[in-house]
Amino acid sequence: VRARVMQVEHSPDVTYEDIGGLDEQMNEVRETVEMPLKSPEMFTKVGIQPPSGVLLHGPPGTGKTMLAKAVANQTDATFIKMAGSELVHKFIGEGAKLVRDLFEVARENEPAVIFIDEIDAIASKRTDSKTSGDAEVQRTMMQLLAEMDGFDERGEIRIIAATNRFDMLDPAILRPGRFDRLIEVPKPEIEGRELIFKIHTRDMNVADDVDFGELAELTEGASGADVKAVCTEAGMFAIREDRTEIRMADFEAAWEKTSQAEEPDADDSL
Ligand code: ATP
Repeated sequence: VRARVMQVEHSPDVTYEDIGGLDEQMNEVRETVEMPLKSPEMFTKVGIQPPSGVLLHGPPGTGKTMLAKAVANQTDATFIKMAGSELVHKFIGEGAKLVRDLFEVARENEPAVIFIDEIDAIASKRTDSKTSGDAEVQRTMMQLLAEMDGFDERGEIRIIAATNRFDMLDPAILRPGRFDRLIEVPKPEIEGRELIFKIHTRDMNVADDVDFGELAELTEGASGADVKAVCTEAGMFAIREDRTEIRMADFEAAWEKTSQAEEPDADDSL
């Protein structure tokens, strides 16, 4: 069961250089996750505890998972990912046990970065907690809080959670000693989009007429994942015309196509 819900990767190959437009967020993650792993003695000497858990929140596809992977890469740590939704929906009744397993795998593979995506699936405030499904969700969350409470903050395991439903979260998980450091990961501004275009075209055969500044302007509202999709689609346009060089017009057509495909999802922005 473990293997099917947990993604375990030693020192994943994402680096800070692969992430565009999140300098502030990157610095915060370095300070709160990387520093305690790399220089725990600093915290001991100064006499403070690093934050227990870090919560990344923001819209889908903005680089939250990348940030967590990049820290694991930088610290040569094992990256252990689990999605909140899988914890409670995939193996009914197994949620609490899976949380125990998660921390056990982390202890066996120190240093480790535990990444819990979609934390809202096990930690949302609910109006009706009487159904049995909800009781199971509740138990899973209690187990997570128990693991975090019995945790050595100066140890070799760090926990990062992510959500794109921050408004739905149960405030209990945000208390001191839990996910007490919040980092907002927003959609990129124009400068960020330009950087992300440059990152995702690093290995592409791009024509001289391609203007990343103009593309950044054009793709207002796009997430990092959207920008990546535009780059891939632009490459497809070139392939369809049997060209190996990707032109500005390909990127423009790709944006037209991918942004139209997204429209039915307009209330994603909530
Ligand atoms: P979700 O909430 O959907 O899990 P997420 O915020 O964790 O999303 P990621 O999985 O980190 O998003 O991003 C998805 C993909 O989009 C990445 O693999 C990367 O290719 C691209 N991407 C997203 N944000 C950025 C960024 N800031 N810089 C470069 N690439 C990005």
